[in-house]
Amino acid sequence: MKFYGGVHPKENKITRNYRIEPIPVPPLVVLHLSQHTGKISRPIVKVGDTVLKGQKISEPDGLISAAVHSSISGRVKEIKDFVHPVTGTKLPSVIIESDKLNRSIHCNTKYKEYFRFDRSELVSFIRENGIVGLGGAMFPTAVKLSPPKDKIIDYVIANGCECEPYLTCDERLMQEYPAEIVSGLKIVMYILDAIKGIVVVEDNKPEAYNKLKEVVSRVPNVEIIKVKTKYPQGAEKQLIKTVLNREVPSGGLPMDVGVVVHNVGTLYAIHNAIVKGIPLYERVVTISGDITRSGNFLVPIGTLISDIVKMLNIDISAIDKVILGGPMMGVAVNSLDIPVIKGTTGILFIKSNSKVDDGKYYPCIRCGKCVRCCPMKLMPNFLSLYIEHKLWDKVKMFSLYDCIECGVCSYICVSKRPITAQIKYAKTKLRS
Ligand code: SF4
Ligand code: SF4
Repeated sequence: MKFYGGVHPKENKITRNYRIEPIPVPPLVVLHLSQHTGKISRPIVKVGDTVLKGQKISEPDGLISAAVHSSISGRVKEIKDFVHPVTGTKLPSVIIESDKLNRSIHCNTKYKEYFRFDRSELVSFIRENGIVGLGGAMFPTAVKLSPPKDKIIDYVIANGCECEPYLTCDERLMQEYPAEIVSGLKIVMYILDAIKGIVVVEDNKPEAYNKLKEVVSRVPNVEIIKVKTKYPQGAEKQLIKTVLNREVPSGGLPMDVGVVVHNVGTLYAIHNAIVKGIPLYERVVTISGDITRSGNFLVPIGTLISDIVKMLNIDISAIDKVILGGPMMGVAVNSLDIPVIKGTTGILFIKSNSKVDDGKYYPCIRCGKCVRCCPMKLMPNFLSLYIEHKLWDKVKMFSLYDCIECGVCSYICVSKRPITAQIKYAKTKLRS
């Protein structure tokens, strides 16, 4: 099955053959206490404390929240508000200065043989290790692994689509750590008591597909599927439609149709936590765009982009725009003194002649392209107009909350209307 709409943006996956390499230990890290969907976590360290790499520095506050761990060893320098890469506002963070010794905690491998343990114990351990969705959404994984009793999950999907242009962090993980990803999938299947696991890879990643296929061929109840490359194939609802021909209802979740979807990066993090006892304190980030020092780098969470630029000697003299994430769903930032967070999939350095929005837009010419391409079957043209004119009742009537903010409408619009940004604004406005 195919999902409705979608587009085929130029791939620009220039870093797909670059092996994952660790960056040097940064001089300091800024660890936001909000690196997840839900409530800001509560700090459990104070200024002057010494911490080790992997040490927990904040506790989840409530059910939908996540712990944060130090990504370097050193001393807590400050606890203060710092600019957040997603919201652009200042939010609480813990700043840790490196002692350059890179000393780690002792890893707890008690759950290595996970199938001997109670499922709820494993979920608590995943929560303890700060795992969130690494595809960008940052939803606390422990919550996704705790569906209500009346929701029977029969399928777990490992999402290896990575359909955003430029980004290759997942592709490299699939090529370099296929066994670990499948191990993460098996752990999730065990926790959810699911009968089947499906690894899904787009057909523009043949090496990743072959590597995973080799592993999957030795694992019972897991299969691998190749799907056509199309954006946003990696969006949960679209992926479920393509793979299982099930439709997640409006306002519903994948678990409503018996499915749980995890990004391959998240599954790798689950494997690391359960099997190796390593909390989530670093991630693979694609650094790409109009620069010569591109690649896929293992980055300690909290590293400032300005420090990455210095450490990797990236020449940004001709760069006009820096985007966190992919060009379709990412956010442009106006300062480099912003830290990498758990959901940072990529950092793109773009010259203005590249295909990105320059901020100018024009009246709608009613071409209908955005309607034909919207994967949620919405009417982005009307949403855009009504938001512009602040007609909030009409905005709600046009299913604002069903928008998955995929960016397709903005990308396809001949009048360059910033429809997705308008929709994000309207959601925030109406919620407040
Ligand atoms: S951003 Fe929203 S309205 Fe625009 S194409 Fe995607 S789902 Fe449709
Ligand atoms: S693509 Fe742009 S110009 Fe065309 S109908 Fe949609 S909003 Fe209007």
